[in-house]
Amino acid sequence: MEFVNLKRQYKAYKEEIDSAISNVLENTAFINGPDVSELEKDLADFLGKGRAVICASGTDALFLPLMAKGIKEGDEVLVPSFTFIATASMVKLSGATPVFVDVDSETFNMDVSDAQKKINKNTKGIIPVSLYGQCADMDAINALAKEHGLWVMEDAAQSFGAEYKGRKSCTLTDMATTSFFPAKPLGGYGDGGAIFTSDEDLADKLISIRNHGQAGRYNHTSLGINGRMDTLQAAIVRVKLKHFPEEIRKRNEIAKRYSEKFKNLPAVISVPKVQENNLSTWAQYTLRIKNRDEFRNWLSKKDIPSAVHYPIPLNRQPVFASLNSPACRVSEELADQVVSLPIHPFLTEEEISKIIEAVCEFSV
Ligand SMILES: *Cc1c(COP(=O)(O)O)cnc(C)c1O
Repeated sequence: MEFVNLKRQYKAYKEEIDSAISNVLENTAFINGPDVSELEKDLADFLGKGRAVICASGTDALFLPLMAKGIKEGDEVLVPSFTFIATASMVKLSGATPVFVDVDSETFNMDVSDAQKKINKNTKGIIPVSLYGQCADMDAINALAKEHGLWVMEDAAQSFGAEYKGRKSCTLTDMATTSFFPAKPLGGYGDGGAIFTSDEDLADKLISIRNHGQAGRYNHTSLGINGRMDTLQAAIVRVKLKHFPEEIRKRNEIAKRYSEKFKNLPAVISVPKVQENNLSTWAQYTLRIKNRDEFRNWLSKKDIPSAVHYPIPLNRQPVFASLNSPACRVSEELADQVVSLPIHPFLTEEEISKIIEAVCEFSV
């Protein structure tokens, strides 16, 4: 069994994808071809609000706005301690200091009361992550930010397509970022990412920075990088976006079945909790489990893949040792307990049953 079965997805959309790819090949506009602006339009239409600027990866999507905002040494940016490295490493790379905020023990998203404690005169912004596909508590985070004059940028690498109190992820904050890494809910066949904002000036600045800070041909008005997304990838993501709502629906169906079966098992500490009025994209279906190593061995003997997102909280990562960050109790507990199961929309009925059976048979 595969953790994410992209072969099945390709087979299902093969005709459309092959035709989109061959169009790009015939057209040869490999950089900034028509599919780039078309994908930006499609993404903005999907959200129904603001502008989309696509870029080379979810990592660049985090970095470009930090450059645009002029984040620099001495500035501090709040990030959750329980997330993928890029959320914090881009802050550090921009010269500023990532300040780690612990997460809520139910949603695993940023703990707003801990965030409040970590704001000081150097704090410039907050990057809440919408982990596993469920939005962080953006109303509370936006209110906190407003009180202190900070910007908020949702790291929606896992949550594009999700809903928070009926509103769409990527429209909730000053800026938001996502990733089209192949294994994300909406992925390409290589790297890609996007930034979303309703701030026109910021969007224009991002477009310039992703292309070497160019204002006109070979006229560079700011520092920039090559942060462009290939036309080929844009064409592929455009096809997948059409099927995306149906894929989210399937992921939700599987998650519901898993949770019904798993919620009362003795080995399971907790099943994922999606807050009322939220819709998750289920980038991951993640249990807290007793005896995780044994559990994963048990699954792997039955040819069921699993993964750990994430085994080391960011405040404990060697690369950030010099920051001497204080402990983040919940994140550290989660790092020892979490395990993610396959949940992609192309799981067969047989595979779903096999996963349910294996988890139910595991005893501590
Ligand atoms: C995947 C991911 C990223 C980075 O995206 P890439 O496209 O791989 O660069 C950033 N933040 C989070 C939370 C992610 O899951």
